[in-house]
Amino acid sequence: MTALFQQLPSVDKFLKTPEGEMLLTEFGHSAVVRELRQLLSEGREFIKQHQNLPYFFADHLSTLHYLQERLTQQNHVQIKSVHNLTGTVLHTNLGRALWAESAQQAALHAMKGNVALEYDLEEGKRSHRDNYISELLTQLTGAEAACIVNNNAAAVLLMLATFAKDKEVIISRGELIEIGGAFRIPDIMAQAGCKLVEVGTTNRTHLKDYRQAINENTAFLMKVHCSNYHISGFTASVSEQELVDLGREFDIPVITDLGSGALIDLSQYDLPNEPTVQEKVAQGVNLVSFSGDKLLGGTQAGIIVGKKEWIAQLQAHPLKRVLRCDKVILAGLEATLRLYLQPEKLIETLPTLYLLTQSIDVLQEKAEQLKACLANRLKDYHVEIEESFAQIGSGSQPMATIPSFAVTIAEKTEVKLTALLAIFKALEQPIIGRVEKGKIWLDLRSVADFKALLDTVEKL
Ligand SMILES: *Cc1c(COP(=O)(O)O)cnc(C)c1O
Repeated sequence: MTALFQQLPSVDKFLKTPEGEMLLTEFGHSAVVRELRQLLSEGREFIKQHQNLPYFFADHLSTLHYLQERLTQQNHVQIKSVHNLTGTVLHTNLGRALWAESAQQAALHAMKGNVALEYDLEEGKRSHRDNYISELLTQLTGAEAACIVNNNAAAVLLMLATFAKDKEVIISRGELIEIGGAFRIPDIMAQAGCKLVEVGTTNRTHLKDYRQAINENTAFLMKVHCSNYHISGFTASVSEQELVDLGREFDIPVITDLGSGALIDLSQYDLPNEPTVQEKVAQGVNLVSFSGDKLLGGTQAGIIVGKKEWIAQLQAHPLKRVLRCDKVILAGLEATLRLYLQPEKLIETLPTLYLLTQSIDVLQEKAEQLKACLANRLKDYHVEIEESFAQIGSGSQPMATIPSFAVTIAEKTEVKLTALLAIFKALEQPIIGRVEKGKIWLDLRSVADFKALLDTVEKL
């Protein structure tokens, strides 16, 4: 064994060989030394276990190739591009909304160079980073002003921390939501330093419940859109409109966490309806918050719209600085919002809406192409086309499904689905479907780039 250990090169010696010098030129001293040391320790372990010299230390050339491979691998970004065939168009785990072409361009410009982010080009003086978007949102929603933060969770935190610290916020028991991750309304309230006052019951809350809970310490009446669940049966809830009227009586503002927050009426496309931001603003809600990367189809952001003096206070709170967005996100968001100035064009310009509104015939045609491509390569499986149900996702209308088509794959021989799932995941651009009723479902509605998908399948 000792003889084997002695055959391992020393770091210094290897670096002085022509192979070592090649590596140094290509990757630099630190990375090469780090990987070589790691490889030597693996080599020693290998010798202990196998009483044999590992192949990667057989000669200098083998060591060179092995290290080259590893060091090149390190440059590959691990946040990989994947094909979304889950049928969930806005999939939080897969990065939610795809950016519109114009948003990508705007972001690229912003990231490559300097932009007039907090600079007023007309006046030649300092300005505010949310200004451009605030003006646009005023035009689009009818609100007086807007404030942009990292995400909607941050938006809720900022609203509560600014106006309700050490005060009470009244909310229905039916709206104490958990969105996933660590976003639970009661926890956010605790973080913001405000006291949660729950009223009503899980299934029924009435206006009088809110009325009875109001006292001199009440900061807000709060509504939270139940995005990701549905209460049915014997139910009652109080609308924003009614709450606004009650709030006016006591001079207490109403805020709404709208979640997805659509800016257009989705029922015109036969899609499940979501309340719109405009609707809430028109009803007199003081502050409305929503996400930028859900139905809006833009960048990850939290958007708060409302009265000027309220927004000004949000902007002045120290937490705003903590939660603010960077130039790239703001550029992407502004470009996305500009698309809403031409709403008839949105189904072409906004990828999220394009995916959601694809006709069932188009999806069937795509399913046929995908099936033809897959069936050739998966002779050990049953490959079929089936009607499927897609979803908006990200908590929008969890009960509502959108008709779709899927290619389904079932076991035919003893070759297992798990084996195929592993192959799909190991692809350069992995294919992510869903497993249901003992089959893999590849739903076409959520596919961002169908041509790229076919290219990937051809390499199977
Ligand atoms: C999605 C959602 C959130 C969280 O929004 P993010 O942008 O993911 O932070 C908060 N509230 C509701 C009602 C939601 O639907």
